[in-house]
Amino acid sequence: MAASSLDQIVNLAKRRGYVFQASEIYGGLNSCWDYGPLGAELKRNVKDAWWHSMVHTRRDVVGLDSAVLQHPKVWQASGHLDGFSDPLIDCKKCKARFRADDMDNATCPERHNAAINDDCKSHFTEPRDFNLMFKTTLGPVEDAGATAYLRPETAQGIFCNYLNVQTTGRLKPPFGVAQIGKSFRNEITPGNFIFRTREFEQMEMEFFVPPEKWEEWYAYWRQERFDWYVKLGVNPEKLRLRDHDADELAHYSNATADIEYELPIGWKELEGVASRSDFDLKRHSEHSGRTLEYFDGQTRERFTPYVIEPAAGVDRALLVFLVDAYDEEEIDGETRTVLRLHPRLAPIKVAVFPLVKKDGMPELAMEIEDSLRARGITTFYDKSGAIGRRYRRQDEVGTPWCITVDGDTKEHGTVTLRDRDTMTQERVSAAELPSLIAERLAP
Ligand code: ATP
Repeated sequence: MAASSLDQIVNLAKRRGYVFQASEIYGGLNSCWDYGPLGAELKRNVKDAWWHSMVHTRRDVVGLDSAVLQHPKVWQASGHLDGFSDPLIDCKKCKARFRADDMDNATCPERHNAAINDDCKSHFTEPRDFNLMFKTTLGPVEDAGATAYLRPETAQGIFCNYLNVQTTGRLKPPFGVAQIGKSFRNEITPGNFIFRTREFEQMEMEFFVPPEKWEEWYAYWRQERFDWYVKLGVNPEKLRLRDHDADELAHYSNATADIEYELPIGWKELEGVASRSDFDLKRHSEHSGRTLEYFDGQTRERFTPYVIEPAAGVDRALLVFLVDAYDEEEIDGETRTVLRLHPRLAPIKVAVFPLVKKDGMPELAMEIEDSLRARGITTFYDKSGAIGRRYRRQDEVGTPWCITVDGDTKEHGTVTLRDRDTMTQERVSAAELPSLIAERLAP
């Protein structure tokens, strides 16, 4: 049985060390979250899987790591200073704030979060534009010249480095530049756990193509990105590609599709794949006075590339992987909760159990654990409690394999290897275990 509410995921995440409320000992900070030991591993694995598929396995994409703080002119050129805003409505009575374009989901805090009604509306202000960029000050003097912004997306750092990357790498379109990093948006209505927060991480790639090739590459990335989630185990029936209607397109885009997932709160955007035309490079050319083109010295060919951008959220992807993996099943009158995470995403790959706490079994188990760790395979050692309970704890955090060290290990050098999903057990050689697991984890 899949998760029927987000609360089930929030509870499990907290109970087992995936995600904690930020500043919890001070009462928490609204919509800010910290990733615990398991969450930190899962997050790294999500980012590694993305980098592997977008950069390391491709000849045509390179990486970048640009600064969060950029020259304010960057945000003027990109349109963020003038246009990156949401329409804000204030309730003069209960002081709640709403997004005028999201009133279907709005609730009244004064009436126990019931849907807003006509009485509510009589206290509303007219909508006004609220810029979502966080402002800060560079240096010790707080004058207007020192104002800077925390980046609201990683993409602009890529556009500003287009020439640096293209010329140093002697790259010819089609080629892409990928980046993973934090972005900040002062969202009016954050919420739904880690789905919408003010500080989040993005995985974005700008793919520069000859203008006449944009449609072909747009179709390619649209499908490629959808398939990435499926390859990492996400149920394709819960995923869909939704093309934007013409009136929904951002000012820079001539075509956009959202990859959406059916969360317990409804179908929600997980990633956007946008064709951004030559908007960004042209704008930065105009504002910086630098020519941002592709120029081939031999053929004298010259053009401003078009851009296809797959833009994903790390935290949203992580939430989807957790929700999609969550399963409850009845076994012998008991409920088994199991996270069926793809083994490459699972924070702990192998849990190691000595059957009993004597006869040298703990020492032997720890030796085997070390041999796994030496191969970069994450492990968890647990010596206490009945074996069935130890299995259940690992099922709940998504550990794909558990091994038990018993009397036969000493005598014959074998261990029991138990599979999370099928719960079947096989006897394997302890010496060969690291290679066996590494093979199963290979992409
Ligand atoms: P939304 O419509 O949900 O606000 P968006 O269309 O503004 O999202 P993009 O600017 O396309 O989002 O950003 C790309 C991706 O970054 C999104 O698909 C999402 O995964 C992630 N993202 C954007 N805003 C947030 C946020 N406030 N919290 C968490 N992730 C976010």
